[in-house]
Amino acid sequence: MTANEAARGLVIVYTGDGKGKTTAALGLCLRAVGHGNKIRIIQFIKSDWPYGERRGLERLAPEVELDSLGIGCVGILGDDKPLEEHRSAAMKALQTAREAVASDRYDIVILDEINVAGHLGLIAAADILSLITAKPTRLHVVLTGRFAPPELIAAADLVTEMKEIKHPFRQGEPGRKGIDF
Ligand code: ATP
Ligand code: MG
Repeated sequence: MTANEAARGLVIVYTGDGKGKTTAALGLCLRAVGHGNKIRIIQFIKSDWPYGERRGLERLAPEVELDSLGIGCVGILGDDKPLEEHRSAAMKALQTAREAVASDRYDIVILDEINVAGHLGLIAAADILSLITAKPTRLHVVLTGRFAPPELIAAADLVTEMKEIKHPFRQGEPGRKGIDF
């Protein structure tokens, strides 16, 4: 590998219907913190509900900065908020992501659940793509969530599809603290 190739940041996508997409992005974050990297995480859909990762990531400050800019699940689990509210939250997250990418202050920008926001039509696939085409060369961008758009998969350097083989949810089991949230 040439020095130029090593200096080129990657576009990494974790998608698919199996568990582990956000977990993989957080694992990558943990590894990068070990090298003193600066990481910005912007969560779409997810709100400031006390997911375990929120308090866990606080402990990795100041290297890691987290913003959860969603307002929760869309159209499921009792959500009755108008789609317009979800859309305006997603637009705010998108704008925050644009600024984070353009700032050149970070080594890695993680856009958690951005693919889901695209799939639900809260933002456009073209919006997702424009984030990575505009990125500073050295920046790594990680995009997670089911239903990654084909254009993103085509443009990315590294794509992993988590595939569900088994999940306790299928047996009616609730999510577990520390494992699922
Ligand atoms: P995680 O955050 O655990 O890495 P994920 O990012 O791959 O999961 P999401 O679609 O973001 O998956 O779903 C988040 C929540 O849904 C987590 O509580 C996770 O355990 C659960 N989940 C993930 N995959 C499945 C599945 N195939 N069936 C049921 N629940 C799932
Ligand atoms: Mg996830």
